[in-house]
Amino acid sequence: MKTLLLNSLEINIKQSDITKETTDAIVNAANKEMIPGGGVDGAINRAAGPDLGSAQRKLGPIETGEAVITAGFALPAKYVIHTAGPIWHDGANDEEHELAASYLNSLNLAKEHKLTSISFPAISTGVYHFPLDLAVKIVFETLTEFSQNPGTVQVINLVNFDSKTNVVYEKYFAMKL
Ligand code: ADP
Repeated sequence: MKTLLLNSLEINIKQSDITKETTDAIVNAANKEMIPGGGVDGAINRAAGPDLGSAQRKLGPIETGEAVITAGFALPAKYVIHTAGPIWHDGANDEEHELAASYLNSLNLAKEHKLTSISFPAISTGVYHFPLDLAVKIVFETLTEFSQNPGTVQVINLVNFDSKTNVVYEKYFAMKL
């Protein structure tokens, strides 16, 4: 795990399974329909139990970049913040702004609920095919913007399932900070 400071925000970059996170909230890379799917969404739903899927479905559909909150049910995290990241087409369909919105809206929801810690997966970089290098740049810029006015939020964990993704995150953040 690598720990960095962004203004007063503690950023932890780690290779792990997000379902094990003990932060106040974990973020789910959901789909707009809010129907539990594969990837990290499937893993979170398996670990949380069937009540999460029921709560999730009731809140859908959502817009790309929007974020909504449910309980965490059987997860160690108290809440799950669900956001629909953009599907990458060619970059000419507002994908970059939409990915930034997914992160910023999730963070603002955590702030509104007076949470202190939140964990993110690498939203849209799986089956949604957002280029990883560009995604990491957007994550860094969005967290930097949020760090100006983080409210109650003190700790942000960037939780990467695979080592390749984790190395790209570590290198980019180390270069910038
Ligand atoms: P998207 O549809 O937004 O691309 P995916 O679930 O396909 O979402 O992938 C997003 C990222 O989440 C990928 O880097 C994938 O490896 C990762 N991932 C999958 N399972 C987990 C997990 N249990 N914990 C953390 N990250 C995960």
